[in-house]
This record gives sequence, C-alpha cells and structure tokens, in this order.
Amino acid sequence: MASAIFRVQSHKFSQDNIETTLVCSRCDEVFSKEFPLDLEGQTIEFKCPVCGAPGEADLPYKSAEEREEFEEDFEEVEEEEGGEDFDEEY
Ligand SMILES: [Zn+2]
Repeated sequence: MASAIFRVQSHKFSQDNIETTLVCSRCDEVFSKEFPLDLEGQTIEFKCPVCGAPGEADLPYKSAEEREEFEEDFEEVEEEEGGEDFDEEY
C-alpha cells in the first residue's frame, strides 16, 4: 500500500487559488493542479490524475515577496484598463 508523494516543482499564487506543478513519485509524470488559497502550507491528499495512485503533497506558503508582487500586478491591471479606454475612442 505505498502511497505516492507529489512534489511541488513550481507554484504560483493567483487571486483565488494556488496553481502548482507537481511531480508524481509513482509514475514520474508532471501535472498541474489548482488548490484553494485556504490550503496554503497544508499537506493535502488526492489521487494522481495520471496514474490514479493516492498520495499527498505539501503546499507552499505564500511568501511576503509574493504578496508584494500581487500589489504590483494590481497596479499594472489598472494601467491596462486605461489603455482600453483609449481603444474605444479610436
Ligand atoms: Zn502518478
């Protein structure tokens, strides 16, 4: 009854969830999965979408740096919206 370990290869925090790229220790396949932000820093269990083996993954915490990046992103979005107004004029 060996369960798989899903190692987080890379991750990105979006506004609503955690986007992760995981590697399955059972089949060695890389897959991506999204988790709710509430699960930040927790160990969660799910089945590998590739081979179906049950396993668990340790989700990362959002770092202070990533929180700051978020604020910058919001500023960029506002600027883009300003550009759309310009397009309407044209
Ligand atoms: Zn697998």
